[in-house]
Amino acid sequence: MDTALSGIWRHAVVTGGAGFVGSHLCTALLHHGTAVTCVDDFSTGAPENIAHLRDRPGFTLVEADVADRLDAGRDDVDLVLHFASPASPADYLRLPLHTLETGSLGTRNALALARAHDARFLLASTSEVYGDPQQHPQNETYWGNVNPVGPRSVYDEAKRFGEALTTAEAGSHGTDTGIVRLFNTYGPRMRGHDGRAVPTFIRQALAGEPLTVTGDGRQTRSLCFVDDTVRGILAAAASDLRGPVNLGNPTEITMLELAHTVIELAGSSSTVTFIERPTDDPAVRCPDITLARGKLQWEPRVGHRDGLRRTIDWFRKRLDG
Ligand code: NAD
Repeated sequence: MDTALSGIWRHAVVTGGAGFVGSHLCTALLHHGTAVTCVDDFSTGAPENIAHLRDRPGFTLVEADVADRLDAGRDDVDLVLHFASPASPADYLRLPLHTLETGSLGTRNALALARAHDARFLLASTSEVYGDPQQHPQNETYWGNVNPVGPRSVYDEAKRFGEALTTAEAGSHGTDTGIVRLFNTYGPRMRGHDGRAVPTFIRQALAGEPLTVTGDGRQTRSLCFVDDTVRGILAAAASDLRGPVNLGNPTEITMLELAHTVIELAGSSSTVTFIERPTDDPAVRCPDITLARGKLQWEPRVGHRDGLRRTIDWFRKRLDG
């Protein structure tokens, strides 16, 4: 953990704090001596993600839909991390209107909270704003290639609207805002059935089932271990960087390579099977992290094999438990 972050915030509100990334953020903030109010409606998160925090001094849980209202219930808030949103395709396809409302009304409410407290605000955006990119790797000046009425649009466009709203808020009210564009992140506390490749492959490998690779498996993703992502988010929060900044691991891996690596690291006898590729599934995804390296002195430290091993261990312990 970065000791430079100790004590720099008194109180952070983390929306979506009971989710995969949010729960790691809450844990890291408490570790740095920041009190945390986690606001979550448990639409895709889970109480067990924050069970280890419930009795920690400084941790408060507020169960609420951020699209309805957002009230920290105290006046010492100096950081708002807006991470509430379904994130896996399976979730946002199941919750299309909720996803749009969380990205629009929820972002508006989170920005209003930050403005009212004169707090730093950080929006969790996504590499999905680049859609199926025609520029590779993607840097922050690329505008993206998004189908506005395709099935994924509820997520992609919600995030693009959230970025526009955040930018307008800073321009209109002088609110101290930042935007992080997260690329695929993986690690402990992902749900085995959330539809994303890493937990799906690990669940299948541990069960000895065939790993379901979509298409021909040649599509690539860049996978960042959650500890690296959280370190980057907190570095962005501690900075005065306003514009979007990519946070991701620039080492690209094909889905077929990923499947074989998971089988090997899990010591599994599973095979690979090919299934249909979802509509508008991007062919490539790789962050240009020049900006994060230069402005935040951030880059990932955990390699794929190490991160996957740690994630497989966590899934295995859960299954054993
Ligand atoms: P997640 O589904 O595990 O967590 C999202 C959390 O937000 C859940 O706890 C859910 O219950 C909560 N939530 C959703 N809508 C809400 C609402 N209206 N009110 C209150 N709580 C609500 O997803 P995640 O992977 O942890 O993603 C967290 C954030 O990071 C999201 O904003 C996502 O778009 C962004 N992100 C994640 C990734 C990734 O690879 N994990 C990549 C890019 C961006």
